[in-house]
Amino acid sequence: MKGFNKISLRSRLTVLTALVLTAVCILLTLSLIFTYSSKMVKVPDNGLISQPNMLTTQISPREKNEVHSTLNKPSDLALLSLLYMLIAIVAGTVASYFIAGKALKPVSDLTESIENIDESKLFQPIIGFGTNDEVARLAASFNHMIMKLGKAFEHQKQFAANAAHELKTPLAGIIANIEVLQLDENPTVTEYKEVIDDTLENAQRLSSLVYDLLKMNSALDEEHFEIFDAKEMFDDIILSLSESSKAKNIRIENNISNIPLFGERTLLQRAFFNLVQNAVKYSKSNGKVVISANQTDDSVIINIRDAGIGIPENELDSIFEPFYRVDASRSRETGGSGLGLSIVKSVVEKHKGRIYVESEIGNFTKATVILPKN
Ligand code: ATP
Ligand code: MG
Repeated sequence: MKGFNKISLRSRLTVLTALVLTAVCILLTLSLIFTYSSKMVKVPDNGLISQPNMLTTQISPREKNEVHSTLNKPSDLALLSLLYMLIAIVAGTVASYFIAGKALKPVSDLTESIENIDESKLFQPIIGFGTNDEVARLAASFNHMIMKLGKAFEHQKQFAANAAHELKTPLAGIIANIEVLQLDENPTVTEYKEVIDDTLENAQRLSSLVYDLLKMNSALDEEHFEIFDAKEMFDDIILSLSESSKAKNIRIENNISNIPLFGERTLLQRAFFNLVQNAVKYSKSNGKVVISANQTDDSVIINIRDAGIGIPENELDSIFEPFYRVDASRSRETGGSGLGLSIVKSVVEKHKGRIYVESEIGNFTKATVILPKN
């Protein structure tokens, strides 16, 4: 049976048809021979043939001879039937080989079309299968898959281009500073210090970018899952953001009490840090950021609300895309690369949670994260 699976579909169909045909022909031939021999008429010497419900018929000696010669030779009849049977089997097998070839032609056409796809038209759909049969459906599924792969590929390309661009900016800054210093024949200590400060800043930016890129694609390690206190985590976050919040005189209120979180603490802390950092970064001076939480039987809901510049409604879906910034020049000024929210989304989704953002331009932005309890 293993060898049978190795031959082409067309040959397989032909062999199966030949088998069925042979079985049917043998049955028919046997039943024919059997019927003939049981109904064979014995002609007595007086030439009178008598059968039930029939009048007795007198046949002439010549007719008697004919009857003898045509019907009373069972071996001839069997041979003839077997010959016809063989002819029927051979003719049927040949015909089925051609019919199978015709029926399978769309399959070989589809195979050929797929084989002809080269690198230059990798994501072009295959055409010419407009019927409504199985092969057309297979072609449609193939095209659907090609379309999805094409989109994912475009996405990856865009991501790589954006990442390269973001990495290029601080690198260009470092190179430019060093070149300026090289041109100066007698640089002062202050000039050296300025270049070093600038280089350090750019290097830190590079390092945090690389860290973010790695985090975005890192797999979740469920062995490191733990239960920890949400209020404590947000206190740590507020502390690490104290410099920037003080600079804009923004008060961050942590209204959470007694809410446990379950997951990889470092990852979740990083995600919530990004959300609170955004709330501070995009708040007007002297504003307020409020962090609150509540829980249901199976999930914890955390809200981070600021009274900041807000996000246009038509951009609310895009802000989770890597490197997306509502106002690119402004975000760059504040040191953002547009990876913050995509990291949040990826971390929350890895914890089987959800995130959504509501906002009103010039009024408020509220991020809601829903995490399962376990
Ligand atoms: P990064 O977080 O990588 O330093 P970023 O803050 O620009 O840079 P995201 O955190 O991904 O990037 O945010 C994407 C964009 O969404 C921001 O550039 C900003 O325009 C907008 N945004 C995010 N949070 C807020 C907010 N709380 N208020 C107003 N706009 C926001
Ligand atoms: Mg951010």
